[in-house]
Amino acid sequence: MTMVGIVVVSHSRQLADAAVALALEMVTGDKPPIAIAAGTEDGGTGTDAAKVADAIAEVSTGGGVLVIMDLGSAVLSAGLALEFLPDPPIDVRLSSGPFFEGLQSAVVLAAAGASLEEVEREAAGALAPKQAQLPAVAPAPTVELVEAPESAGTPDATADIALVNPDGLHARPAAALVAVAAGFSARVTVTNLRSGAGPASASSPIALATLAARQGDILRIHATGAEATEAVHAVRRLVAEGFGESALIGPTTGTTPTTGRPLGVSPGRAAGPVVVVPPPIDEPGTDLPLSPDQRDSAASRISPAAQSVAATLDELASRVGAPAGDIIAATAAIARDPGLADAIRSAIVERGLSPERAVWEAVAAIAAVYRGGGDRLAARVVDLSAVRDRLIAQLSERPVPGIPVSSTPYVLVAVDLAPTDAAVLDPAQCLAIVTEQGGPTSHTAILARALGIPAVVGAAGVTGVPEGTTVLVDGTTGEIVIDPTAEQLAAVAAAGERRPVLEPGSTADGHPVPLLANIGSADTVATALAEGAEGIGLFRTEFGFLGRTEAPTVPEQIAAYRKVFAAFAGKKVVVRTLDAGADKPLPFVTDQSEPNPALGVRGYRTAAGHPQVLADQLAAIAAAADAEQARVQVMAPMIATAEEAAEFATLCHGHGIAVVGVMVEIPAAAIIAREIFAEVDFVSLGTNDLTQYTMAADRTLGALGALGDPWQPSVLRLIRMVCEGAGGKPVGVCGEAAADPLLAVVLVGLGVSSLSMSPRSRGPVATALKA
Ligand code: PEP
Ligand code: MG
Repeated sequence: MTMVGIVVVSHSRQLADAAVALALEMVTGDKPPIAIAAGTEDGGTGTDAAKVADAIAEVSTGGGVLVIMDLGSAVLSAGLALEFLPDPPIDVRLSSGPFFEGLQSAVVLAAAGASLEEVEREAAGALAPKQAQLPAVAPAPTVELVEAPESAGTPDATADIALVNPDGLHARPAAALVAVAAGFSARVTVTNLRSGAGPASASSPIALATLAARQGDILRIHATGAEATEAVHAVRRLVAEGFGESALIGPTTGTTPTTGRPLGVSPGRAAGPVVVVPPPIDEPGTDLPLSPDQRDSAASRISPAAQSVAATLDELASRVGAPAGDIIAATAAIARDPGLADAIRSAIVERGLSPERAVWEAVAAIAAVYRGGGDRLAARVVDLSAVRDRLIAQLSERPVPGIPVSSTPYVLVAVDLAPTDAAVLDPAQCLAIVTEQGGPTSHTAILARALGIPAVVGAAGVTGVPEGTTVLVDGTTGEIVIDPTAEQLAAVAAAGERRPVLEPGSTADGHPVPLLANIGSADTVATALAEGAEGIGLFRTEFGFLGRTEAPTVPEQIAAYRKVFAAFAGKKVVVRTLDAGADKPLPFVTDQSEPNPALGVRGYRTAAGHPQVLADQLAAIAAAADAEQARVQVMAPMIATAEEAAEFATLCHGHGIAVVGVMVEIPAAAIIAREIFAEVDFVSLGTNDLTQYTMAADRTLGALGALGDPWQPSVLRLIRMVCEGAGGKPVGVCGEAAADPLLAVVLVGLGVSSLSMSPRSRGPVATALKA
């Protein structure tokens, strides 16, 4: 039965986990595919459109997907995620239903095999039972957006102020504004001068929210009454101070020449010379109208120009691939839109405008419609502008605007980047990005994160920094330092940060050492690719099982594995079978009452009591591998004996998996490495557990840190024993030891053939090996 997939978008991972657990309690049989896109990478609160898009793709099994969201920007992220969905198209609906009740209703109906329409309708109406049960409350009064003018003679005051908050005048700042305004004997109103919305009463957070004020908009604060001046002054200060949302707004350092508040949106630090993206194409002049006999031939230039722009964009889209390629393909579709060409042609034929001016005016008219169509549509204006500039450049035979070509690494500075610009960025050349505009969900932010390039947005005035000036950019804090000191530059260089090394790993004398990535899900695949990972050396599949009450279904697993395999087509992907137990307990396979879980039934040992879980997983890996082009290998965790290794290899071969290995992370296995190698094709050293078991030092105890150190000679000697027993077969390291640049050199010296580590550790290790 194909079920509707459900995606839960929340600011908080804990909240989403709890909501899903609660909803699943209502289902006894098969559960619908559910994926969570919640919280930030570092465990904080927030939502991320790229994560939402991944989650949608993950749960899509053909029956459509319903997305349930919590508040405000969750809705924005979900809307934006629709732009990033892979082909073929997925029928996705964003639910207007309440978060908890809607999720519960959706899960129940989806589990019953209901259609997407039915699931969506049920979720949307999920509050009805509660409302029927509880006493009726008078509905909230309709908010009067436009305030009645005061009678003449009442004292009044006015001030205009720019909104600096990256997320605009959303619920929290609106509530703060209401609280401040309430402290004065005055009627305060706010008008958004950009959109003309308002005046909205400052006594109503809803009215303020309907102003849809965004970062950079100018707000007019007006007050009447006895304390009008004081009220305007206080509200103005509140707005200027970003409503106290300092944690959300990057610091403006003493050396940042901007009046805005820069916001770090893609982590990492980098320094380099500024390259400024040229300003967009100037607005073409309104010359004398073309004479009637010139108009037809001028109009006939439009279609070929539009087709040529679309073809160039299509070519670019296929060159860069998803997710950026999908956005560029959408921009190409705008260029190819017959409605746009018609509008331009009629401006030429009917009004005698020059082709360039006609493009400008036609696009401006469409952009105005987009801007009025809500945040999601408004965010697409940048795509329209990209098409406009390319068309005008084509018509006037000027160079295509966009990222300048530079032969040396640079920090890219721009007013804003179109997806078409961001997508052609080479992470090896572009050290960091700083833009004057944009917020945390802008394309610049999403694409910079996907490429692993540190980025700061909202740095008003930064394009005034002269070309070639050295700047230091901190994509975490939002700090920008112009002409940093030698110490500051040295600190960035010493940290070896944010300069991915894309060349294949090798020693200085050219001996290849593939540098692979450790991942827990498809979420980190983009980073791994951006960091130059030559494959995946450890795919910790247990992350797809954690927090669940039973194993994911085979189709769910196939979908999850395929995403990773697809991203690494033609490259090695080592999948580790379920490693449950100890620090990763799974109620349906591990016994929580064991006195010593680290020495208990964990890793491969769980297969004896739960053979079906392993069989299902191997079937899913095999099916996913068949459907994709990656060179898939499979290994088992926590192998202690040669018999276990032989048994695992037989199981894998039975599922058609050709290349089979085991992890060596128990000293017993290291000691009998030769016998283990006789049964399998490769081993991967799990130095985290190998160190813990060799030193009898719990890896989770900070107090035993010195003992739990893979530099311990006994651990290194075991590693050497494994390399000596390999008989020419590959020996990888996938524990944290591989991420220590110095230790990596030692490991290669001991005979290790590949290293796998968290994606962002690759650069420093690659550099150390080459030194
Ligand atoms: C290890 O033990 O080194 C390892 C890579 O596995 P995990 O850290 O997942 O236990
Ligand atoms: Mg381990």
